Amino acid sequence: MQTEELLPAQRADLLRRLVAGELPDARGRFGPFGGRYAPETLMPALQRLEEGLQRFLKDADFQAELGRELRDWAGRPTALSPAPTLSRRWGATVWLKREDLAHTGAHKINNALGQALLAKRLGARRIIAETGAGQHGVATAAACARVGIPCIVYMGAVDVQRQAPNVERMVQLGAEVVPVKSGDRTLRAAIDEAFRDWVSDPNGSYYLLGSAVGPHPYPLLVRELQSVIGREARAQFIERTGGLPDAVFACVGGGSNAIGLFHPLVGDASVELIGVEAGGRSAKLGENAATLATGRPGVLHGTYSMLLQDKEGLVQETHSISAGLDYPGVGPEHALLRAIGRVTYVSATDDEALDALRECCSAEGILPAIETAHAFAGARKWAATHPGKTLLIGLSGRGDKDMPTLSQVFGGARKILEEAGG
Ligand SMILES: *Cc1c(COP(=O)(O)O)cnc(C)c1O
Repeated sequence: MQTEELLPAQRADLLRRLVAGELPDARGRFGPFGGRYAPETLMPALQRLEEGLQRFLKDADFQAELGRELRDWAGRPTALSPAPTLSRRWGATVWLKREDLAHTGAHKINNALGQALLAKRLGARRIIAETGAGQHGVATAAACARVGIPCIVYMGAVDVQRQAPNVERMVQLGAEVVPVKSGDRTLRAAIDEAFRDWVSDPNGSYYLLGSAVGPHPYPLLVRELQSVIGREARAQFIERTGGLPDAVFACVGGGSNAIGLFHPLVGDASVELIGVEAGGRSAKLGENAATLATGRPGVLHGTYSMLLQDKEGLVQETHSISAGLDYPGVGPEHALLRAIGRVTYVSATDDEALDALRECCSAEGILPAIETAHAFAGARKWAATHPGKTLLIGLSGRGDKDMPTLSQVFGGARKILEEAGG
């Protein structure tokens, strides 16, 4: 499938249908992308989930409960903060949408809470989730405790080692964490294992997927739950400035925080939307996770989207300093947004992200997640060639979880610790 071959009229039509709320279509397609590539044994469960989603996402009772819990428990609406020092340095007007202030420290709670409430309405007795860095696992464990459903989190054995503090957080929140020793022993293997568990008990279990990926209806469900970010940001921006930003930036792993911020703005033609992927160590295949910038279309984890693969179609290992962006696929709605030219996707390297992280800390007193820092790096570069513009950056999460990586790279506290030790 050469999506570059979409004709201008096809692009315009797909954009119109996306804005009109007609995508994904009844088959779960975002134009050429998306769909449901899953084993027969999973089809009834996916079908049931789709029916439940259609019923409850429009249900006033469900929306009222979700809204109440987002406000009272998750801390929404999150702030829209001006960034005066970055603005002065970059020669732009910079605003930040503060998902780092949401409960458990990132946007992931919007999705975990929404799906946990949905699972309860659908009568699930247990919730299954996968996690890479552990952030989605922590959000899911917290949401399950709140909603009152037992929680099982699959996590690659390698990630269990790398992300020990998050394993402890999940356990404290009452989740059962299962290390996955098969496959690549990281996120990909954990997703495979979670699907396998779901197949064995599709009636009693609910699979709570962590990003805007996977077979239909997950990309739709996750987008709907994360769009609260963009709806709030749009209204807050108009209230504070009387208008909309010139450009909006978000980091893209699986694509959930980015689609949540972008989707409500896709119809605002004056707003440039820019997704920033993980450029890793270099542009070479295997040394980054820049799926949209360098990948080709293919099927992974039940959806047809862009994918990092070699000439034979073998899915490639990825590298990024941020575990949350380290995934060879991406949500199908992003593949469409790229194909129709509505969103531009760029990448920031590990070093550029770390540099941007330090600047955000010292300039604004905010420690962003390393994932988030990629969005700052992309925004800074763009501002340098677009003086005087107004920018909105999706601050997807806080960086406290990244302390082990940061102290390894910067060693900021080492000298003080040595001095204190005498
Ligand atoms: C997980 C995570 C991401 C990447 O996931 P998306 O689905 O692409 O949003 C980005 N930022 C933070 C803080 C995360 O925890």
